[in-house]
Amino acid sequence: MAMNSTGRPTAPANQNDAGQDVKTFSGSRGLLQQEPLLHEVGGLEKCGVDFPPIPDCKSRLDGLERDNKIGLPGLSEPEVLRHYVRLSQRNYAIDLGLYPLGSCTMKHNPRLNEKVVRLPGFADIHPLQPQSTVQGALALMGEVSHWLMAITGMDAVALSPKAGAHGEWCGMMCIREALKDRGEVDTRRRVLVPESAHGTNPATAAACGFEIDELPADVTGRVDMDVLRTKIGPDVAAIMLTNPNTCGLFERDICEIADLVHEAGGYFYCDGANLNAIMGKTRVRDLGVDAMHINLHKTFSTPHGGGGPGAGPVVLSKRLSAYAPLPYLKADGDSWTLVEDAAQSEAKPFGRMSAFHGQMGMFVRALAYMMSHGADGLRQVSEDAVLNANYLLACLSDEMSPAFDGACMHEALFDDAFLKDTGVTTLDFSKAMIDEGYHPMTMYFPLVVHGAMLIEPTETESKESLDRFADTLLALAKAAKSGDRERFVTAPVLAPLRRLDETRAARSPVLRWAAD
Ligand SMILES: *Cc1c(COP(=O)(O)O)cnc(C)c1O
Repeated sequence: MAMNSTGRPTAPANQNDAGQDVKTFSGSRGLLQQEPLLHEVGGLEKCGVDFPPIPDCKSRLDGLERDNKIGLPGLSEPEVLRHYVRLSQRNYAIDLGLYPLGSCTMKHNPRLNEKVVRLPGFADIHPLQPQSTVQGALALMGEVSHWLMAITGMDAVALSPKAGAHGEWCGMMCIREALKDRGEVDTRRRVLVPESAHGTNPATAAACGFEIDELPADVTGRVDMDVLRTKIGPDVAAIMLTNPNTCGLFERDICEIADLVHEAGGYFYCDGANLNAIMGKTRVRDLGVDAMHINLHKTFSTPHGGGGPGAGPVVLSKRLSAYAPLPYLKADGDSWTLVEDAAQSEAKPFGRMSAFHGQMGMFVRALAYMMSHGADGLRQVSEDAVLNANYLLACLSDEMSPAFDGACMHEALFDDAFLKDTGVTTLDFSKAMIDEGYHPMTMYFPLVVHGAMLIEPTETESKESLDRFADTLLALAKAAKSGDRERFVTAPVLAPLRRLDETRAARSPVLRWAAD
């Protein structure tokens, strides 16, 4: 098979040089193995290990013991290992290639983080150990807190939330508790949320018992200040605003927005998912923010998922610090205490969000990232992330249609105007990217842009990698415009699976394997 200049086969993987579809006897394709379900690989009659016979003893389960077979397939270690390795080969991963999902900051996860987090002193401790035996771990959490507060200029940090959305909930619960303290929780019911917001923002406000009032965007993709002024009033509890916003644009009026909300007695919740664009450049405190979550898996390079929950610490202003949830860290000279219950606390914690103190594995990784970059390095990260996004914006503008005029922050947003009259939709375009070896960008978000395509390259991609990606997208855009609709509406043809019914999978998932 011929290779192109980047070493990729020029004929699709399932075709021979004559362009004929290759059907194999085994169902595997090359060295990519066909893989059935574990229940199909293993049998109920098989067992991967030899257990000694069960001694004859009286059950202490008082009649609750299982009286039928458990129904799990028996498998050997190599069968299990191969199953998961084969499945992993069908997945896309940041270790495999560029991952342009906007609003997700899919940056490289440095191996140094992984090396450090596996040190026995970090990996082998347990949250139920006496605090006197984990002083080093508590000091590390104190250090992470220090960095997060230094980067944002904020007064306190709650470490226990497990993700961005969990952090939103933490911040909004602090706001609710503060309003309770002021005796205004029943009168301040409204939370202002821009139309372009991530879906978790209105969901969080609703989960905390507030009413959502949508703010429209103006023609530049930012909060419409005229509308905002008409919506400010004594019943406003808070505004939830992302900055830079989900259109990849800095909210230029952010200080005025904060002042308007504060003057009306409300709080400013900032969605910090896009911190990667402003870290070391803009101090969040100076923007008038009262609470902001930080997604360690976005800005601070910890893995997105994989092996457990993540971490979404929340930084708080002086006005909200007292309401931070339990448990929280307290320093006393060289020793650290985790304040575990309200009776011990001198503050007014709104409650507890999780069993323990947060995700230690993520704290270690994030701190390794922060310390290996240093303050100047973290600033450089933001600068490079913004530069990379603007480079792509400039390259792609030749054939694709930017949603707004001017430069962007760390992600470039396009609409589907360039696909007008081609019969190709944003979805088709994204599916064709899969055939080209790229995970699609974020599509149809933010909702304020028609057929949105949100591309975030992050600072970790090289110029060569960005050029290859841009060339591919430009070629696809040209193909769509030249009438090659077939390429798009049938895509993906080279992926292990074609188009899935994602809606049905989400609405009526089959969660149980049934033998029949
Ligand atoms: C990712 C993201 C969130 C949610 O964060 P999770 O860690 O996925 O819960 C919220 N808002 C914005 C703008 C995001 O990009």
